[in-house]
Amino acid sequence: MINLILFGPPGAGKGTQAVKLAEHFGLRHLSTGDIFRREMAEGTELGQAAKTFIEAGKLVPDDITIGMLKNHMMAHRHGSGFILDGFPRTLPQAEALERLMDELDLPLTAVISLEVEDAELIRRLRGRAATSGRTDDADENIIRKRLEVYKSETLPLKDYYRRRSVLQEVNGMGTIEKIFSDICSRIQAEA
Ligand code: ADP
Repeated sequence: MINLILFGPPGAGKGTQAVKLAEHFGLRHLSTGDIFRREMAEGTELGQAAKTFIEAGKLVPDDITIGMLKNHMMAHRHGSGFILDGFPRTLPQAEALERLMDELDLPLTAVISLEVEDAELIRRLRGRAATSGRTDDADENIIRKRLEVYKSETLPLKDYYRRRSVLQEVNGMGTIEKIFSDICSRIQAEA
């Protein structure tokens, strides 16, 4: 069984790589961002609760996000493994995930951190705005806010996972295929 966390700033390419990895290793792809956007499009209570935070470039509060992730993991616990994309993003989320994976007896194979320079992230997010239809990509101030939130709340998790000896840093600046093959070699070395 393989369980992965894909880690990195907004625009690092987590979603792109997660889809490829899910297909290659037969994993269930859980993207908290995608789940929130689906709930928003359907106008559910959860979607409405998340909307104001997402549109301001802020994180959705931990209790909402953790509860949602738990439901999805519980529902698919008997598959061949998970790839988490966009979760965890805070220390309480990482701690909750660790407890949940212990309870469900799911091993954490690796945390893949995609390393991309700020200027390139901003360039990619601006470019994505044209096609993603995402309001949080369309506004320069919101993009900067998301990068700020990433640095203050999410980046500290790298140390958390480094201490657990599961962190794998991968250069996220090459072609999609090159990055994918780098990630695959790291996973094969761990699995
Ligand atoms: P990005 O490309 O910015 O990484 P995502 O699609 O992963 O985008 O997430 C979009 C938004 O959804 C985030 O800016 C945040 O508001 C919310 N979100 C996604 N995952 C989480 C999470 N684990 N905790 C809190 N909020 C989240």
